[in-house]
Amino acid sequence: MRDFELLQPKNLADALDALAQNNASVHPLAGGTDMLVDIRAQRAQPDVLVALQNVNELRGVTRTNGHLRVGASTTIAEFLKNPLLTEHDALRQAASVFANPLIRNSATIAGNIGSASPAGDMLPPLLAFDAQIELVSKNGTRTMPLNEFFLGPRKTARNANELISNLQLPISNLQTASAFYKLGLRQADAISLVSVAVWLQRDSDMIRDVRIALGAVAPRPMRATRAEEILHGQIFNETNVKEAARVASEECAPIDDLRASANYRRRMVNVYVRRMLEQAWRNF
Ligand SMILES: Cc1cc2nc3c(=O)[nH]c(=O)nc-3n(C[C@H](O)[C@H](O)[C@H](O)COP(=O)(O)OP(=O)(O)OC[C@H]3O[C@@H](n4cnc5c(N)ncnc54)[C@H](O)[C@@H]3O)c2cc1C
Repeated sequence: MRDFELLQPKNLADALDALAQNNASVHPLAGGTDMLVDIRAQRAQPDVLVALQNVNELRGVTRTNGHLRVGASTTIAEFLKNPLLTEHDALRQAASVFANPLIRNSATIAGNIGSASPAGDMLPPLLAFDAQIELVSKNGTRTMPLNEFFLGPRKTARNANELISNLQLPISNLQTASAFYKLGLRQADAISLVSVAVWLQRDSDMIRDVRIALGAVAPRPMRATRAEEILHGQIFNETNVKEAARVASEECAPIDDLRASANYRRRMVNVYVRRMLEQAWRNF
């Protein structure tokens, strides 16, 4: 493995100072479950890693002013334990099929976002919950929709001197439900062939609001907005759900690779968007 310097700042200010050296090969290090694999494979060649495990400002999950605030260093395992997180079905379901218990104990939500893999499992549920991402640097703080943060495979809108500090998920007072499914080639420790997250807001037998997010079927995790439009303000029935699933399978842009063909992925989007909409509706 290539040599690198490891910095272990004790607080956020020191971590931001370290990143502000304005050197493109200074990178944050959270759980290391992607970064260390990438260094070994020479996909990443950092001169300096800024380890975040002692930065308490990046921890914690709180509920304030109609938002759930999830600290960047929240591990995937915490999504299966913390009641503020487990009540969000799609997030809990994604965490439960994420890697294996060992990885889940180290891997963080910011690391999953920072890696920006089109197949990152926590990303579709976060998009379905309409998460905002907060970025912090020595120059200040900015917030943007997570949907605008992903620019392409492993490309994000983060500047080299910025850290992801937290995510903010709006909490609705109205009736909402969500669901997530990951299709892999095996039951555990699999990379997604397709993943689907849906979020619904219900008004009697009508869909008041809906978000559908897809993973592993485009250069970045995506919202299926044309499919959402078909359901918005409509009665929840078989015809509408089938049409939305069909449109979702048309608007995604999968590739052929060694795990599956683009055609198979499209067909599975059709199947799982329909199933997840039905599952979320049953959850009300
Ligand atoms: C065996 C194995 C199985 C896996 N299975 C899955 C799986 O089922 N599903 C899945 O989605 N992924 C999986 N992964 C990938 C990986 O575990 C996840 O992407 C994980 O969430 C990365 O988090 P981390 O804390 O380890 O990030 P790190 O490896 O520390 O960092 C990843 C990237 O994020 C950046 N970063 C980290 N924290 C911040 C921050 N606060 N601000 C800005 N940038 C930051 C780093 O600089 C780096 O670019 C697996 C990996 C392994 C090794």
